[in-house]
Amino acid sequence: MKRAIYPGSFDPVTYGHLDIIERAAKNFDEIIVSVLNNKTKTPLFSVEERVNILKEATKDIPNVKVESFSGLLVDYAKSRDVHLIVRGLRAITDFEYELQNAQTNALLSKESLDTIFFATRLEYAYLSSSSVKEIASFGGDISMCVPEFVSKLVYEKFGYEKK
Ligand code: ADP
Repeated sequence: MKRAIYPGSFDPVTYGHLDIIERAAKNFDEIIVSVLNNKTKTPLFSVEERVNILKEATKDIPNVKVESFSGLLVDYAKSRDVHLIVRGLRAITDFEYELQNAQTNALLSKESLDTIFFATRLEYAYLSSSSVKEIASFGGDISMCVPEFVSKLVYEKFGYEKK
């Protein structure tokens, strides 16, 4: 069975992430979308909230599973017996960081963990969770960035009623 892990912060999940998830799900038997519990970042949504949002957003894709993990990605992948990581590439600015991560994970796993990249669709190239949060913090329109139920939850976090 071809399985892959798509790890990330997903704070919150955007249409860009969802596009990668849909395309990855078409290419693999199972995609495990996994929320990184990163203690060094202060997220808008807790890990549990992000997992629940991702579950709701991917509920119509049967071969997608949502989990969370903390610690090293290589250890988590080993615990799930998965040897492939999926990541998205938006622009050249993502490239250096992603390349470094992919090479570090390959090294740490003694070359048993590979990373595969999906190029973002042009229409989502501008999209990031950070810009969604920044726009929403000023009450701006994020309807083109995230599903409606997600935008409602984001506005709630910033003390706005649903737009
Ligand atoms: P991280 O904090 O691990 O970078 P993110 O949630 O920001 O987590 O992103 C997870 C993955 O999704 C990364 O590989 C990132 O490049 C990719 N990604 C984020 N936004 C988009 C987008 N708009 N289109 C395609 N890929 C994206």
